[in-house]
Amino acid sequence: MTETAAPASISVEQFRAQARAWLEANLERRTDALKRTRGLVHRTVEDIAEQRALQALVHRGGYAGITWPVEYGGRGLTRAHELAYLDEAKDFITPDLGIAGVVTLAVIAQTALRHASEDFKQRHLGPILAGEELWAEFLSDPSAGSDLAGVTTTAVREGDHWVLNGSKVWSSGAYYADFGLCLARTDWDVPKHKGLTWFAVGTALPGVTVEPLTEITGDAEFCREEFHDVVIADSERIGGVGEGWAVAQSVLQYEREASSGGLTSVLTLTGPGPLAPDLVEMARRTGRTGDPHTRQLIATSHTGDFAVRALGARLARLMLAGHPAGPAIISYSKLAVGLMEPERAKKAMHVGGAAALAWEPGDRDALTFSLGYLNSRVTAIAGGTNEIQRNALGERVLGLPREPSFDRGKTFRQVQDAGQNWAGDS
Ligand SMILES: Cc1cc2nc3c(=O)[nH]c(=O)nc-3n(C[C@H](O)[C@H](O)[C@H](O)COP(=O)(O)OP(=O)(O)OC[C@H]3O[C@@H](n4cnc5c(N)ncnc54)[C@H](O)[C@@H]3O)c2cc1C
Repeated sequence: MTETAAPASISVEQFRAQARAWLEANLERRTDALKRTRGLVHRTVEDIAEQRALQALVHRGGYAGITWPVEYGGRGLTRAHELAYLDEAKDFITPDLGIAGVVTLAVIAQTALRHASEDFKQRHLGPILAGEELWAEFLSDPSAGSDLAGVTTTAVREGDHWVLNGSKVWSSGAYYADFGLCLARTDWDVPKHKGLTWFAVGTALPGVTVEPLTEITGDAEFCREEFHDVVIADSERIGGVGEGWAVAQSVLQYEREASSGGLTSVLTLTGPGPLAPDLVEMARRTGRTGDPHTRQLIATSHTGDFAVRALGARLARLMLAGHPAGPAIISYSKLAVGLMEPERAKKAMHVGGAAALAWEPGDRDALTFSLGYLNSRVTAIAGGTNEIQRNALGERVLGLPREPSFDRGKTFRQVQDAGQNWAGDS
């Protein structure tokens, strides 16, 4: 239940004024010192618990799930109302639930709204908005990433529940998540895209182990999970049995939207913005503002930043207007970010020079450059690699022939058996 009543017809300007007053009264103003940078701070379970409390406060205030249906705890308002709130909230410290928070709100909840049963939505969406449930994505198997339909993690039905066995990997933020949205094979005797089903798997269930994996940055945000005879109620299924591939399309679409900046943020684009402020600041520190090569690096980074944001905004408008190729066009934006980020990070290292390679303890600005470099391939891989985005664009947007496949028309069991029989013996 929220504290702020939502008259069905509240105008965007009235809503903005209410939001401004609520933010002033309830949240702290943001200062530069409080900015978080990806990879700079390891998110502990205790730190996330504080952010959950902040999320609960925002939810009680009526500013979580602004566009979500009222029956699931949202406000039932428009995207314009949400944009007004985001615009007002940008100067305040709002909940930061880490990568699992982004995934929960931008991917899992949206997928559940579209595909889950009424009972499932009633059980999970309210707690999600209130910060009580955080989720991770249990998509990739150790042997199936790009080929997501090739997962071998298996769920077998036993009466009104399922028994899950297998393993997942690269699950961002799973060590502090309460649930994982898990793709499992429920039928091995149909073609691979047809025997898949999604489940909500509680991370505290007996038989589930979650192990953080250390990354190149020294952080351990990723996890690997093992499932040994994990019992899951059928009511925790999302979508029909064997219809998981249709649900997967939604999961991937929402993930690509989120990792390419999100529709909401790109809709707020008003112009090119300031000249690459992080690089200008570093050039000042290193005394290179007059160096022609450094100036070139800053200028090309700035034009790249603007081009990516402008492309995102254009795609958002096309999607909202119902482009005939549908949500698949978001792959243009995902691919653009995946290509630009490594280039920009490399330029940043050149601008910083030695100052970006070695720094005094506590010098967060310098550290950010080197972590940015180490993290710069994230968008090129997560949520589908650059090559997979190119395939999606070729096949679904440009109408090119599908890439050759050795498993079409075969059951998944036949494909697996053939894969293990390289000698071709019968
Ligand atoms: C930062 C980050 C966060 C992630 N978070 C999650 C998460 O929360 N949950 C989760 O389940 N997974 C997550 N992943 C895993 C991610 O989805 C996979 O890494 C990704 O789909 C690629 O799969 P793979 O690593 O198995 O590589 P592979 O599929 O083995 O690919 C290896 C290489 O082959 C290329 N390739 C593969 N197939 C084709 C093809 N058909 N055509 C052309 N080239 C091809 C790929 O582009 C790649 O270069 C995350 C990954 C990263 C980097």
